[in-house]
Order: sequence, then structure tokens, then C-alpha cells
Amino acid sequence: MPSSALRVAVVGSGPAGFYAAGALLDAEPGFEVDMLERLPTPWGLVRLGVAPDHPKLKSVSRAFERIAEKPGFRFFGNVEVGRDLSHRELLSLYDAVIYAFGAQTDKRLGIPGEDLPGSWSATEFVAWYNGHPDYQELPFDLNVERAVVIGNGNVALDVARMLALTPEELAPTDTTDPAIDAIGASPVREIVIVGRRGPAQASWTTQELKEMGELAAADVSVDPRDLEGADESDTHVRRNMDVLREFAAREPSGKPLVVRFLFFHSPVAIHGEAKVESVELVRNELEERDGRLVAVPTDEHETLESGLVFRSVGYRGVGVPDVPFDEGRGTIANDGGRVTGAERTYCAGWIKRGPTGIIGTNKKDATDTVGRLLEDVEAGRVAHKPEATPEAVESFLAERGVGAVVYSGWTSIDELERAAGEKLGRPRVKLRSWDELLEAAERVAETA
Ligand code: NAP
Repeated sequence: MPSSALRVAVVGSGPAGFYAAGALLDAEPGFEVDMLERLPTPWGLVRLGVAPDHPKLKSVSRAFERIAEKPGFRFFGNVEVGRDLSHRELLSLYDAVIYAFGAQTDKRLGIPGEDLPGSWSATEFVAWYNGHPDYQELPFDLNVERAVVIGNGNVALDVARMLALTPEELAPTDTTDPAIDAIGASPVREIVIVGRRGPAQASWTTQELKEMGELAAADVSVDPRDLEGADESDTHVRRNMDVLREFAAREPSGKPLVVRFLFFHSPVAIHGEAKVESVELVRNELEERDGRLVAVPTDEHETLESGLVFRSVGYRGVGVPDVPFDEGRGTIANDGGRVTGAERTYCAGWIKRGPTGIIGTNKKDATDTVGRLLEDVEAGRVAHKPEATPEAVESFLAERGVGAVVYSGWTSIDELERAAGEKLGRPRVKLRSWDELLEAAERVAETA
């Protein structure tokens, strides 16, 4: 007897995708979920974004594993919407679709020299040290004495901290070996974190900021004058300012590296002949405009010699063909998770609200989206159509020649990686190329 459960495609397998799948599989009147993912591996930024020295944050993957064990869940990795199948085809194969594929690209600074070799986006560096198979060939040259990180968010701190970690601190993590080797061999002596506004406007979280003061090989440096006169009425701001005051009061302890916080500066140009040689900054003043403090440039310029610049100024979403996209916000156009003007189509996570919040933020976000879908089921706008079957999806992918990685394929990758890590006292040693990943997925799937 065919199932009458509603069949939903969740596109993307990061936190928002898994939380949406979990909420659906727990809901009435009964749902089945196929999770479609471009990569052979699930977990999105939990695998490929969260810094490897933050294993506690990565441990949320256990909750994803429990969701994947629920009846009605299937995983199809190595399947890309827009390449292997279209939005319309998804709608014909499923009763509803939830897009939860995050924000694939980064914001740019829009300044001269941004494309010189040695000028990178933080997202590229993060993907490289985390083993993302599309980023392993990037030629990061860490053979510099000073690195500059533009931005005052948690990703900027991740990048600065990873650059400052010692081989001993990196050894027990799942950072890739080429990244551990390159970071360990780097002669970098100063990492400058540049904020266009003041310390009170920074968007990092206090815990992450505090960690910068606990590095084995790096002292921190803050100019106490930058900490004067800020409005500290907000508790979060006051806590951050307290941490920075404590940093500012420290005497250098002679560690080999310094992480310097430079506030009230914006990059105006990246200079160099064949590659980055320096970054030109302008000093800013803050002005209130429409109730917000904005950075306004003065005519004071400063040039920092540096061969390595990371812009860490936020991610940006990329759309899929035939799904309405809000260019201004860089998100799928939506109203509380219902995609604007598109039937049976929803979104969750960063592609719904923009690249903000921590992993847990996506639980409520995805549950809210599933709430809208349930309302539409209740109202009869979403209903099960008999032709939307699990077999129809399999036949479709087979006819297209799409070699999907199913969940047992992923668990075999997972087992191989963990076994390789266990020997070395690391959580895992990641497979870093498409070939290795697809081969591992097939090999163990065959023996299963
Ligand atoms: P973010 O928190 O939005 O920070 C972006 C930073 O870039 C802000 O300081 C912003 O300054 C600055 N910026 C933007 N445009 C700029 C420009 N043109 N020139 C100079 N500076 C510019 O973004 P993120 O660091 O990419 O993090 C994304 C999300 O992931 C955040 O919600 C973050 O908390 C989360 N995350 C969490 C963790 C963790 O929990 N450990 C780790 C990583 C990421 P303005 O404020 O002046 O715009």
C-alpha cells in the first residue's frame, strides 16, 4: 500500500536543513524527507565552516545524526539543484520543497587591488583549512610576516586565531594536513584585525573574543584610546569592552606573535605589483545616521606592509534558477519562510534571513518555516500527490545519470575519516578531493 505521507525535498544539509528535516519528521500528518546536497558529505558549515579548534561547536552533528536515523529520512549527496535537476522538476517530484543551502559566496570590499594574489576572502581560507573539496587547490602563501584581516565578526576571529595556532594546538583537530603544515611553517609575526567602526560596534561574541587572549603563541594588542567614550549600556557591548580593556592592560609577554586589534579603519586600496604588498587604510570617525553609527572616512591614511589580506566582511546568498531572489538582501525572496510568489516552496536558514546568528539560531528559524508549511497543509495548499513517490526520485536520478551518494555512502566516508583520525588522536582526517570522497562512498556502500 503506497504511503500517504507528504514528501518534502530539503535542499542543503547544514544546520537549517537538518533542523527543518527534524521538525518535519516529528510533525503530523506524517512526512518523508529527502535531503539533497551538492557535496557528497552532509552538515554544511558544521563540517566545512566551524573552526576545527572548536570541536564542541562541531558536536552538534550528533543531533543531525539522530535526525538522519528517523524513519522517512533519506540523503542524496552529490546532487545539485540547478545542475542535475531544476526547481520545476523538484516540484513535480515532491509535494513541497524547502531550500536551506546557506550563503555560498562572500561580500566584496569593492576596492582597487582586491583581486591581487594574496588577497583572499575569509570564506576561501575557512573552506581550505576545513577540507572543502572545491577549495583544496587554492595557492595560499602564508610566507609573510604580517597578515591583515578585515572585519570585526566571528569569522574574522576564526581566521586570525587559526593563523596564530601552533602545530601543537592544531594537532588534535581535524584541520587538513596541508593547512597545519602551512600555518606551522608561516613566519607570520603580526596579525592585524581591522574594524571599520569601534569596539562597541563589533559583531563578534564575547566568548570568541576572550579566546583571542588565550592563545599559546600570540599576545594581544589593543590601543586603550580606542576604548574611550563608547556607549556601554548594552550588556553584550559592556562584556566585549571589558575583555578588550583587559587585553589593553596587558604587557607583551614576549610570545612570537601579536594579534593587534585596529579599530576605526577601513581599507581603501590593496597595493602590489604582482601580488599583495601593502594595504592602505583610512581612519574613520563615527557619525549617527538614521539611528545607526556609521563609519565616515577622515583624510588620515595609513599603509600596512603585508603580503596577505583576508576580507571577512560577511557572506552572501546565491539563488537558484526559477526561484525568486532578493538581490538587495542576498536571500531567496520570502515572507517568514514562504517563498514569494512560488507555490509549495519554502526556505530556511541563511538563504532565508541572511548570514546572521549562531548554529542554534537555525533551529527556531527552520521550525518557523516548517510551521508555515504545516499551515499550508492544513489549508489544503499543500497535499500529497500519489505520483510523488520515493521510487520516482530514484528513477529520475538514475535516468539523468546522477550518481547520488546515499546516507550509507556518507557513513562510510565518515567511518574511514574517523578511523584515520583515531590512529593520530584526532577526531577525523578528512578526505579532501571529490574522487576520494566518491570512491569512499561507493566502496563501503557496495559492501553494506
Ligand atoms: P558578521 O558578524 O556580519 O561580521 C561582518 C563584519 O564585517 C562586521 O564587523 C562588519 O562591520 C564588517 N564589514 C562589512 N562590510 C565591511 C566593509 N565594506 N569594510 C569593512 N568592514 C566591513 O559576519 P561573519 O563574521 O561573516 O559571521 C557570519 C555569522 O556567522 C555571524 O552571525 C557569526 O556570529 C556567525 N559565526 C559564529 C561563530 C561562532 O559562534 N563561533 C563562528 C563564525 C561565525 P559593520 O558592523 O560596520 O557592518
